[in-house]
Amino acid sequence: AHNDSNAHNLSDDGLFAPGFDEKSCLSRFQHRLYRKSERKPSAYLLSKLRSYEHLHRRCGLYTDPYNRTLTVIRSGEDVDDTTTGSITACKYLIWHPVNGLGNRMISLASTFLYALLTDRVLLADLTQDMADLFCEPFLGSPWILPLEFPLRNLARNGKLRFAHSAGKALKNSTLKVTPPDSPAKAPPFLFINLYQGKYADEPSSFYCDESQSFLRRVPCLSLLSDQYFVPSLFLIKSFKKEAIRLFPEKEAVYHHLVHYLMLPSNQAWELITRFYEANLAKADERIGLQVRVFEEQFIPILTDKILTCLQNQTHLPKIDNKKPKLSSSSSSPRNQTPTTTTTAVLITSLYPQFYQNLSTMYSNKQTVSGEVIKFYQPSHEGKQRFEDGEHNMKALVEIYLLSMCEKLVISADSTFGYAAQGLGANRAWILLRPGYGFLDSCVRDLSVEPCFQWPPPSRNCIGDRNNSGSSRHDDVTENVAYLKHCEDWKSGVKLV
Ligand code: GDP
Repeated sequence: AHNDSNAHNLSDDGLFAPGFDEKSCLSRFQHRLYRKSERKPSAYLLSKLRSYEHLHRRCGLYTDPYNRTLTVIRSGEDVDDTTTGSITACKYLIWHPVNGLGNRMISLASTFLYALLTDRVLLADLTQDMADLFCEPFLGSPWILPLEFPLRNLARNGKLRFAHSAGKALKNSTLKVTPPDSPAKAPPFLFINLYQGKYADEPSSFYCDESQSFLRRVPCLSLLSDQYFVPSLFLIKSFKKEAIRLFPEKEAVYHHLVHYLMLPSNQAWELITRFYEANLAKADERIGLQVRVFEEQFIPILTDKILTCLQNQTHLPKIDNKKPKLSSSSSSPRNQTPTTTTTAVLITSLYPQFYQNLSTMYSNKQTVSGEVIKFYQPSHEGKQRFEDGEHNMKALVEIYLLSMCEKLVISADSTFGYAAQGLGANRAWILLRPGYGFLDSCVRDLSVEPCFQWPPPSRNCIGDRNNSGSSRHDDVTENVAYLKHCEDWKSGVKLV
């Protein structure tokens, strides 16, 4: 349906380095055909990405600095400023996956921003179940952590992670008194565990300047998180200025990062575009609906809530019971008059019920506006599956399809929905979770940024505690215009 000759012009907002081979990653050149984004990356972000790519090539896999860093890691011996200058001129940040794909996409985007802010090379531990999902993002040097990388298995062992945790090292580093003239020592590698904000082996002081200045000396950091911890990076004093310069539009941080970093592989792109062309392309309007069920007992009441939200907020027309029913043949597109408008509702869910209920409700009925409503659901996997590449591929395809819809309804507390909303940069309505006493069925989100569900406690850093006398700093959003509490997760925060 689309003319390929437009592809080059459309892909070019400068986000991608020139020189990529089009065939190796079609989505890089074609994604703009499916979604128009108003969000433009800042010139500073573009220049930062170009210098990051240079760093990634200079320090990439099997280069001299990379090989030297492996030697330092294997030796296990502390390094100091004199050695880090020469031996490990390149520093590394390893991302490890935890939880579902939504969690992984938002944490990978956050980890990349942390790499940009700390001049580290990002290597992603893309396990077998993720190997086929994304294109190589960096021109000329791979990003996938090699299987034989020494910290890869260590990261899967809680005891070993704890033994080498940044939290422990940070505690010890404050106790160690370094004589003024001796170079400051640091371990060759550390694990940072920000998983679900459980700061058990990781004090939340990760988000403090004093910790960051210590971590800066460590050649290789290995990071575990399932969260979008970007908002807290914006609050670290030594990062703030740079973060704001990179992203003057704070609502588009995830949007740019995910586009740059997580382009669907050709295999994924073919599935996405094939579904889109077959089912969604011809509709006049597309509504995406993501139904994540955390408590099965609420499935029976969810359809009503969904319907109320779709009709009241996304203007899905109601059924007109006074008009005669359509025979099944007259509702087929061939028999519609050319002026009939069609709305396609894309449903994604692990469960088939919502699609079944809604499509039965609308099937062969006329709507008050005369619009024809069509429902589609690409898959219903039944339950979340782990270590299953095909299952993750379906999830990625659906996250992308949702992001291509003009209107979007996502589920409260679900990172799957966050991942889709930020990708499309299209402010969604959030279906509120039944059983929590909400009167409304859904609420408009404050921004397209994912919610950081487990931000660190406020007044967490030494500097904050020293300044605590004068004002009430108990709420991190206070006095920060670009930070708000999330509509669906009140203790969480998001950039707006
Ligand atoms: P969250 O648990 O809702 O925050 O989202 P995650 O994406 O982190 O984890 C849920 C996982 O369950 C997804 O990655 C998928 O594997 C699966 N899943 C949940 N909802 C859907 C859906 O609508 N479609 C598909 N294909 N998979 C889903």
